[in-house]
Amino acid sequence: MMNPTSRSHGGVRVAGLLSAACAALLFAACGQQQAPAASEGAAATPQATDGADAAPAASGEVNLYTTREPGLIQPLLDAFTDSTGIEVNTVFLKDGLMERLGAEGERSPADVLMTVDTGNLLDVVDAGHTQAVDSDVLEEAIPAHLRGGEGHWFTLSLRDRVLYADKDLELDGFAYEDLADPQWKGRVCIRSGQHPYNTSLFAAMIAHNGAEATEEWLRGVKDNLARKAAGGDRDVARDILAGICDIGIANAYYVGRMKNAEEGSEQRQWGDAIQVIRPVFAGAEDGGTHVNISGAAIAANAPNRENAVALLEYLVSDEAQSMYARANYEYPVKAGVELDPVVASFGEMKIDPLPLTEVARYRRQASELVDKVGFDN
Ligand code: FE
Repeated sequence: MMNPTSRSHGGVRVAGLLSAACAALLFAACGQQQAPAASEGAAATPQATDGADAAPAASGEVNLYTTREPGLIQPLLDAFTDSTGIEVNTVFLKDGLMERLGAEGERSPADVLMTVDTGNLLDVVDAGHTQAVDSDVLEEAIPAHLRGGEGHWFTLSLRDRVLYADKDLELDGFAYEDLADPQWKGRVCIRSGQHPYNTSLFAAMIAHNGAEATEEWLRGVKDNLARKAAGGDRDVARDILAGICDIGIANAYYVGRMKNAEEGSEQRQWGDAIQVIRPVFAGAEDGGTHVNISGAAIAANAPNRENAVALLEYLVSDEAQSMYARANYEYPVKAGVELDPVVASFGEMKIDPLPLTEVARYRRQASELVDKVGFDN
């Protein structure tokens, strides 16, 4: 049968052709077919975790909408199913999560919504597509500044925005503010100022130092650029290797990918050309490293709410956090979880303590400043 929960992008295209109601019906049908996998005998009895004794509406499955790459999260979902017996029907969406939820409305079969970027999560929350969750497990694992009010969204992993520097440079720490220092004139590489990774960082700068100081800072960084603000994060490492620039700002997880790439490959050479330093906001009394996130929320009309909460709680378990962090070299949101060796080599992270919801408030202003100073020109 046509399965809207197919784990391939192709399946999403098929599902996209179906009306919301039809999709919902198919989900229901799936539910009957995919009764809890009572595999190795022991799992036959529902485990006495959250919701196992709740209403039978939760028939041993959970419907996940995610923009994350299948290869990245499928192992986690499989591990969840192994440990709980709850099947995960996943719709992998490259984009269009908001549009899809809007089209499906109250009939949406979605239970869990998972995406990257605080802005994307807040868009979903602000549009009313999520519901409050009260979970001690989630609240204990996730610091308060990394989740939404009333449990409307939760961070699952951190994406720190760091300094890539020529491996031979001797640097004793770094502040984001330093990027505008004239000593770096003609030596800085960065992608477009309008990319969400950068508007998020610039928004945090506004939150810490104010709009005026941030505008001045942006002009200083622009003056220091070795080339047009363009390309991707990995291009910063590529261009450091090529001698075009000495430092730049990019996400840390790309370094995990590059330094773990096949020996002799291009990516490996880029990765090996750089060192990583986690900058802090010097202007802030209590500044740390800027992070963006991957996160999740429970859908407003989740038909399998208990299982949805169980999935989120699983995703912040030590086991899942460690898998998640190693699969994509992101930083675990939960403290004390084992890191990938490359990520560990960057040292302890002091996360900027500013609430992400507050940072997000300045994103539009950050984007306007980027235009105003002609950062991308
Ligand atoms: Fe990325």
